[in-house]
Amino acid sequence: MDLTFNSGDEAFRTEVQDFIAEAYTDDLKQRMALSRNGSIGKDAIQMWQRRLAKKGWLGINWPTEHGGPGFSQTQKYIFDIEMSKVGAPSAGNMGITMCGPVIMEFGTDAQKAEHLPKIRAGEIWWCQGYSEPGSGSDLASLQLKTEVKDDHFLINGSKTWTTYAQYADWMFCLCRTDNSGKKQQGISFILIDMKAPGITIDPIVTIDQPVAGQQEVNQVFFDDVKVPLENLVGNLNEGWTCAKYLLQFERGNSHAPALHRALSGLKKIASQETSGRGDRLIDDPDFRMKLADAHREIQSIEYNELRIFAELNAGQAVGARSSMLKLAGSEMGQKLQMLGVEAAGYYSLPFDRDTFGVLDGDTNEGTPGPDYASRLAPTYFNHRKTTIYGGSSEVQRMVMAKAILGL
Ligand SMILES: Cc1cc2nc3c(=O)[nH]c(=O)nc-3n(C[C@H](O)[C@H](O)[C@H](O)COP(=O)(O)OP(=O)(O)OC[C@H]3O[C@@H](n4cnc5c(N)ncnc54)[C@H](O)[C@@H]3O)c2cc1C
Repeated sequence: MDLTFNSGDEAFRTEVQDFIAEAYTDDLKQRMALSRNGSIGKDAIQMWQRRLAKKGWLGINWPTEHGGPGFSQTQKYIFDIEMSKVGAPSAGNMGITMCGPVIMEFGTDAQKAEHLPKIRAGEIWWCQGYSEPGSGSDLASLQLKTEVKDDHFLINGSKTWTTYAQYADWMFCLCRTDNSGKKQQGISFILIDMKAPGITIDPIVTIDQPVAGQQEVNQVFFDDVKVPLENLVGNLNEGWTCAKYLLQFERGNSHAPALHRALSGLKKIASQETSGRGDRLIDDPDFRMKLADAHREIQSIEYNELRIFAELNAGQAVGARSSMLKLAGSEMGQKLQMLGVEAAGYYSLPFDRDTFGVLDGDTNEGTPGPDYASRLAPTYFNHRKTTIYGGSSEVQRMVMAKAILGL
């Protein structure tokens, strides 16, 4: 295992830094600074994604044959580190990170030609139609009724928790096309145009919900929605294979760069806040112990990620260890957010729903306490999601128990 960066990697780091200096402009920085929960709105996200796409860096995981930059695992890691250092918006979207790889692997030539260039250019927005009311962790029990008619599928039912469905042009969707066999059989992976007649979107209001229209999750209803048969990806009734293939991309991201940034933000807060004894919180022995514990855990996550990326570079598979990365990274993120709320104390408590999210001309004026305080509770509440979506912590532990420990 070689964990050092070579001169080529260091040159790449400089290239990323140069790109950030030019593309991460003041207007985007301002939006990120004002966002209480990380949401900056569709326009700003797309502006950022198009800048990345212009450089050829939107799909950093994509192979060169599909227009990706062909980064090594190490380069991807360096890219993440540099983006996290400056707090840039996430480069990924569900088209790039989830649907694109499935189309590359299972799609027809026509599907590849139609969708991949637009995904790579950041032109279209995708949402994920997996979960249903009653089918989340036990995803294979999904029942979205999908009948095969002459030249189309006829879809009736609903999907839920659909992130940013209101922004989406397309949905990649798991549909029930047959109920006669085992529950994993009879599922089909279908691409659905969100403008198709019969689709309605109901916002789900969450505790940190941003301004109207910027809600994060939705329930999507299908009422006699017709979808052309050629939108089927892979074979009819074999969509579970695509679904499982996709999950490894949903769970296999690096967390350490963002965790390091969050820890350093927490230290800054602790150096401005006072402890119960009147000294700086960062000098308080109990809080210092918590910071030290967090630092140690993040180091361990980072070395695990680097070890796995080194193995990927050497052509080995991640397999169920993507569950380990997802579990450790998401739970550590939540611990840091809890410490942030603890550090700011009373100032993190005021909670005004209307001030969340970002609108043009928005400012932090009017919120009590230091600027950082107004973000702490919304971020804390919003990030409860990270140990639920993409498979809850309990489910990740089950996967590891079975696939890694052989229990
Ligand atoms: C903010 C957010 C965004 C999301 N975005 C999307 C999206 O864009 N598209 C999409 O399709 N879905 C999305 N989801 C849905 C998400 O994938 C599901 O919420 C998740 O899979 C859990 O399913 P559930 O909510 O039905 O909970 P359940 O499956 O009912 O679980 C309830 C509890 O039981 C536990 N549990 C369940 N099964 C087991 C088991 N076998 N062993 C031990 N414990 C178990 C769970 O850990 C959990 O604590 C999103 C969720 C959130 C919160």
